[in-house]
Amino acid sequence: QGEVVISDSTTLNLFKVLSAAVKIQADKFPEHKIIVAEKDAFPTDIYIIEGFIDLIQKGYQVELIDGVEDLSRALENDVAVVVLSHVNYRTGYFYDMATINEQIHSKDALVIWDLCHSVGAVPMHLNQTDSDFAIGCTYKYLNGGPGSPALLWVNEKHRDQFWQPLSGWWSHKKPFDMTQHYEPANSIRRYLCGTQPVISMSLIECGVDIFLHADMQKIREKSLKLTDLFIQLVHQECSEFGFELITPLDHNHRGSHVSYRHEFGYEIIQALIARGVIGDYREPAVLRFGITPLYLGFEDIWNAVQHLKETMLNSEWKNKQYLVRGEVT
Ligand SMILES: *Cc1c(COP(=O)(O)O)cnc(C)c1O
Repeated sequence: QGEVVISDSTTLNLFKVLSAAVKIQADKFPEHKIIVAEKDAFPTDIYIIEGFIDLIQKGYQVELIDGVEDLSRALENDVAVVVLSHVNYRTGYFYDMATINEQIHSKDALVIWDLCHSVGAVPMHLNQTDSDFAIGCTYKYLNGGPGSPALLWVNEKHRDQFWQPLSGWWSHKKPFDMTQHYEPANSIRRYLCGTQPVISMSLIECGVDIFLHADMQKIREKSLKLTDLFIQLVHQECSEFGFELITPLDHNHRGSHVSYRHEFGYEIIQALIARGVIGDYREPAVLRFGITPLYLGFEDIWNAVQHLKETMLNSEWKNKQYLVRGEVT
């Protein structure tokens, strides 16, 4: 309470917190002009950084890194802000938030965590790890429903230092006074913009209420058992079909989805969807299985792998209808 708002989309919320982070840094460390993101970031994050840099025209540059191994090298230069996905949308790689925050702060940079694939999937401690900003969607593991609005969290120490540029009336100190000048609310409400989508928010409440009855640690334990089982069964049942696991085996670095690379990933996912096993295809050649522990059981995992095996054995994915790619995959 008092730390999070729900509004707009993850994409827009990134714009708001990035503006805040860059402004705070420009006052303290004006020579820090690099914004770091991962090559393998969800593209919208990179696009927003590029758009922001182009808008403000202050000589900022984006530097794309090759993941965690490359972060220390990048931090040797004057970095203002690092934008990272807590769990990578494609591979499922899971960052250790505490260690990474320490590393980033030791170089006088700030961190923005994109929590889209981790909120509701893995435990996290934004305050204890002294994170700076976080954003994320509510329509993945939080079950807010398609297109539900996004969350935005700001460390209290940064909250009142800056007003974000999408300074709409809902972020005003007294929106219904209808005054002629902007004055930001002295609370996390200053990160709102216009009217929140109230009906969509009421649906998020249903999803979040279910989580409040569950223990996040237990959710995590079950998630790891389910993903372990899935990996083990794909190995056992489908080894001859050429699926290459790209999700870390190490529990400390695995989120709650499992991904494989396969040349015909797109067609295979379509054939699986036709059988009622709904995974995602992500470029390049990646099959992603979101394994959400709140409502998937061990039997579901067994059945999913059997469907995968039959799809391959019967060459169902070769069906011509699966060759046609839609705009949305
Ligand atoms: C799903 C996802 C988004 C989506 O952003 P929208 O603004 O809701 O379209 C952003 N970042 C990551 C890492 C995601 O996985």
